[in-house]
Amino acid sequence: MSAFWHPFAAMHSVRDNPVTITRGEDVWVYDDAGTRYLDGTASLWYANVGHGRREIVDAVAEQLGRLEAYSTFTDFTNEPAERLADEIAARAPLDGGKVFFTSGGGDSIETAAKLAREYFGAIGEPQRTVLLHREHSYHGTHGLGTSLAGIPGNRLAGPFVPDVVQTPWDDAAGLEKAIVDLGAERVAAFFCEPVIGAGGVLPPPEGYIEAAAEVCRRHGVLFVADAVICGFGRLGDWFGVERFGVRPDIAVFAKGVTSGYQPLGGIVASERIAAPFWDTPGRMFRHGQTYAGHPAACAAGSATIALMERDGLLARADELEPQLLERLRGIADHPLVDHARGGTGVLGALAFDPERLAGAPDLPQRVFRAARERGVLIRPMGSAVGFSPPLTTTAEHLDLLAEVTAAALDDVAAGR
Ligand code: PMP
Repeated sequence: MSAFWHPFAAMHSVRDNPVTITRGEDVWVYDDAGTRYLDGTASLWYANVGHGRREIVDAVAEQLGRLEAYSTFTDFTNEPAERLADEIAARAPLDGGKVFFTSGGGDSIETAAKLAREYFGAIGEPQRTVLLHREHSYHGTHGLGTSLAGIPGNRLAGPFVPDVVQTPWDDAAGLEKAIVDLGAERVAAFFCEPVIGAGGVLPPPEGYIEAAAEVCRRHGVLFVADAVICGFGRLGDWFGVERFGVRPDIAVFAKGVTSGYQPLGGIVASERIAAPFWDTPGRMFRHGQTYAGHPAACAAGSATIALMERDGLLARADELEPQLLERLRGIADHPLVDHARGGTGVLGALAFDPERLAGAPDLPQRVFRAARERGVLIRPMGSAVGFSPPLTTTAEHLDLLAEVTAAALDDVAAGR
């Protein structure tokens, strides 16, 4: 037994029989016994370009060989960080974007939340401290992110950060009511996943994102797009909000930015939000992590973007979007299943029948295990199983994903 303490794991049940993944190749990963699995979830929603892409590996290795890392605090910089920041700013749906790098999604949420509050302090509205989020939301597991959690099971280790208020996940009028009840002059920012991911793959109701952004604009509340899952191709664009015509004040990214080849995250802040910190002599954003702008991580980011553009993976996502939903709908008449969700990006879910689930709350886990035994990886969630395959997935892979999921549902229904 290893000393490795797995995240989000009941160690007592996994410590003696962990699944050791040893290598990956495009949409496939292999365990230490040589068993091949179709990666129907792009690992943890991030392997958008698929596994084992030599171009990215080489770019990282080349950078590590030249300079593995050096601090970017104060006036230090490095070429990969500057290059990637410019590439991201040029693709971000906001004006004059400035890019602040971190090591992952949770880091970036803390950065966005602190920046929102600091921004209002800097422009003379220090009473704007309230951060809004949505039911079912997932914004990482750090201090502010845990406070911004809409998934009840993740709200542990309180008391939480003050001035965080939850709003309905699907109703912009409810968001506006929360702002008005609090007093708009107290509200700093609204955190919004374009499609709620870990909370169950919940595509926004028609018009919700647009209306929520408009409510924020009207009340002077910053719109923070959490594109950690939805960005870098998952919704067919770079930041997951372009399809709604929304221009956020801050956009948060991680995961797909490197497709997992290196840990990296960050935020893009619009020119207006960055201005007090960029244009006021002596004022700094007193925040930053050791590996901000890590050259090897940034090299992975640039190589990922280049590969996505070369292989047309954004357009590929647009093709996959309806195909994934169609495959899931094709197996949604199973007695264990209530409905299929998806159709906004390459993200889908099969929600279990509520009555069956009430009698067997571990259904998602059991179906996930049955599918894994049959060589396909899907994601168990509270009341559903989720799908987020790499963007290199083909129609044949989708067929296999649906076929094996259906067989796994049969296995579980038959008590196998
Ligand atoms: N925001 C969203 C929407 C996420 O899905 C995640 C991770 N699943 C995070 C933030 C946190 O990212 P990380 O796990 O890299 O800290």
